[in-house]
Amino acid sequence: PIEMSSIPSEKKPPHAVCVPFPAQGHITPMLKLAKLLHSHGFHISFVNTHYNHRRLLRSGAVSSHALPTFRFLSIPDGLPPSGDDATQSIPALCSSLPRAAAEPFRDLLKALPATCVVSDGALTFTLEAAEEVGVPAVLFWTTSACGFMGYLHYEQLRERGLTPFKDEKDLTNGYLDTPVDWIPGMTKTMRLRDFPTFIRTTDPNDVMLNYCIREARRAALSAAVVLNTFDDLERPVLDGIATVLPRPVYTIGPLLSSPGGGALSSLRSNLWKEDPGCLEWLRGKRPSSVVYVNFGSITVMTREQLVEFAWGLADCGYEFLWVVRPDLVTGNSAVLPPEFVKETENRGLLASWCPQEAVLGHEAIGGFLTHSGWNSTIESITAGVAMLSWPFFAEQQTNCRYACEEWGNAMEIDNDVKRTEVADLIRTLMGGEKGRDMKRMAAEWKEKAARATGPGGSSEVNLQRLIEEVLL
Ligand code: UDP
Repeated sequence: PIEMSSIPSEKKPPHAVCVPFPAQGHITPMLKLAKLLHSHGFHISFVNTHYNHRRLLRSGAVSSHALPTFRFLSIPDGLPPSGDDATQSIPALCSSLPRAAAEPFRDLLKALPATCVVSDGALTFTLEAAEEVGVPAVLFWTTSACGFMGYLHYEQLRERGLTPFKDEKDLTNGYLDTPVDWIPGMTKTMRLRDFPTFIRTTDPNDVMLNYCIREARRAALSAAVVLNTFDDLERPVLDGIATVLPRPVYTIGPLLSSPGGGALSSLRSNLWKEDPGCLEWLRGKRPSSVVYVNFGSITVMTREQLVEFAWGLADCGYEFLWVVRPDLVTGNSAVLPPEFVKETENRGLLASWCPQEAVLGHEAIGGFLTHSGWNSTIESITAGVAMLSWPFFAEQQTNCRYACEEWGNAMEIDNDVKRTEVADLIRTLMGGEKGRDMKRMAAEWKEKAARATGPGGSSEVNLQRLIEEVLL
């Protein structure tokens, strides 16, 4: 049911313009937030890039959708045309987007009856457009609070001479173990290696380092920041953020897939076409018996690493569902050894893209081998599933550190992955004593997450406050 309680009936409905950064891990949570606002009476204009707009149509995510109160629009990203369903380069997008999209976005905004802008935290060119039109703009950082705090401190890390690195060797000589214990609210066990990875450069002009510094600094220019997390999970670091960011922060997570159900429940955000067989395959499996493996939408690995994961999965003895994106391996050669495929054909399912939240919520899943992207992490917390973490880049390293050290629901796999370690850690996760402890913690976090989004919970209350204090 559509809840109109937030809006005085004599007024025209408010109109939110939602602008995600053009990557899966940003579009998905933005769409959830947009649906949530829609269920509170907002009209929505959802602005993708032309490229992703086409992909969403092609994957069937938005095809059957035609609701006058929830519209999809698009702006250019400035990149040369790439192949169908190719993962676009994040640094390339960061250099081209602000230049290519700022003006089209401003024109689009002027032509709409917009009353507020909900922009990705990494697209702050939207702030000037909102100011010109005279509507409030909030920044949705689709990261954890700890990840966001990491980015907020990039500038200080640079001022203290900790980044850019002095030497390429600093990537391997133990420099990354430098303790960073002076950030308010962050765990005192933070090391340089636990920060979002864009500090790992020797180039003072590095695109990502400078982009992140600028975008984090400009968070202070927004009306408010929104985070897809909940207070119980990240209270100390949220308190820390409040001491360094002079804007209000609204924690409204975990954002759920179909708030309110209704006309929008069929609306999805998949850029890839879902493999329909995954849930079917899980049906009838014993509870907590299957390992789920998925490295998200951007992670790439070498063929050697892929092969180590494969034999680790073969050797662990458990059943597994492994999602191998066609472009998971550098150079598009995500081909598994035929002997592995043959040996595991009776207890493993390989897929190219799955409905992850439904999979994580399935009782057959006993553990999640993940790259610790924030969406995957918060979805795993929502489902109460313990994790093995192989962080790839960005703030995944921070999420991994927090999950392993603070939340107690994960263990880390060494970056230089070896099949024996993979098999041993899976056995520990699925059947060992440490695994039992992690599963207990995962169950506790699941309960706390549900409480946060339930009636009177912190996230539910914060959403109402965000609407009333900022967006209306
Ligand atoms: N996802 C999915 N099916 C897949 C792989 C990923 O639905 O087979 C979704 C997943 O549920 C999550 C998002 O894609 O919402 C990935 O975001 P995350 O932050 O975990 O990682 P990223 O892709 O940004 O590295």
